[in-house]
Amino acid sequence: MFNDEHTEIGIEAEEGSPMAAAPTPLITAGLVDAHIHPDKSSWSDPWMKRRPAADLADLIGNNIKALSEYTHSVEERAFALLSHAHRNGTLAMRAHVDIGPEVGLANIEGVRAAAERIPSLDVQIVCFPQFGLLTNPGTADLMAASLHAGADIVGGIDPVGLENDLHGHLDTVFGMAQAAGRDLDIHLHDGGEQGLAEIREIAARTEAAGMQGHVTIPHAFALCDDSLPSLRETLDAVADAQVWIATCALGPDPVPDLALLEAHGVQVAAGSDGVRDSWSPFGTGSMVDRAHLLGYRTGAITDSDLERCWRIASLEGARMLGIADIASDATATSPTRLEFGAPTIAQLVVDRPAPARVVRHGHDIR
Ligand SMILES: [Zn+2]
Repeated sequence: MFNDEHTEIGIEAEEGSPMAAAPTPLITAGLVDAHIHPDKSSWSDPWMKRRPAADLADLIGNNIKALSEYTHSVEERAFALLSHAHRNGTLAMRAHVDIGPEVGLANIEGVRAAAERIPSLDVQIVCFPQFGLLTNPGTADLMAASLHAGADIVGGIDPVGLENDLHGHLDTVFGMAQAAGRDLDIHLHDGGEQGLAEIREIAARTEAAGMQGHVTIPHAFALCDDSLPSLRETLDAVADAQVWIATCALGPDPVPDLALLEAHGVQVAAGSDGVRDSWSPFGTGSMVDRAHLLGYRTGAITDSDLERCWRIASLEGARMLGIADIASDATATSPTRLEFGAPTIAQLVVDRPAPARVVRHGHDIR
């Protein structure tokens, strides 16, 4: 049903075209999707018609309405999406999976079951309180239980924008992560100086808890607004606490200035976010496509700009997830590597071909 030879938005290489296959393959490290929502995806289901949404509350409401509309189970949809991503070079991913009284532990268990069917793909599962944590009674208990039922990492979401209780929310998620010895990954859409203040508070708590390198803030839209007076001070706080930022380079959303974040020493990884779910009809699950979109959205011009996008989609993601066999450059003899018919990384990011070969631990995936 899906075109595995080339990624969905890719184009065919033609004889004599600038992207015709190079005589020797280009070898790269594996790709890492640092932020994806497999349980929400309609992958393998019939086409989903989306409802309009004006804000985050509408999007979450649409998400709840869609729960009863899928044809296939969470496990089957997640398996279809994970398999497709894997064949397109993703060797590890961090999956944010909804949890709350609306779905119980079912989505966590479904995505974990799908992941277990693909042993050559590392899948870290975040128990993600999409429908609220403090504002959705029963969610915290389910999150704690999920850490023994397939979830690896504690999730959070907009402590102020969705919950209006910065310290209550952070007390809960940091407390849960510390008690269980797990990493923490907190969705943050909140913008403006309020968003930056939340990010600084997360950074301060990360240092106080000794969790440097173990806390991620996906989206972090406030870091994308160069007009905010405390932006640079906040970037320094993020860098000092070794908090990871995960960006998804989505069409309507702000994307950080990668050069500015790099200059401040901020660690950045990239992910798909939702793939063809109730939030958006877009997404292919391919991190080749995501590196391309990151370059496109950030106005990449030079080879160095394009190579940075690739690094963020591969090596940096592997560092964030702690995946040793992807975290350094690969060679033709590396037991874990991707092979592409492209002359350079820069052109690969622009042309976005699917990998010609995907190898993990010495075994061919494609
Ligand atoms: Zn997300």
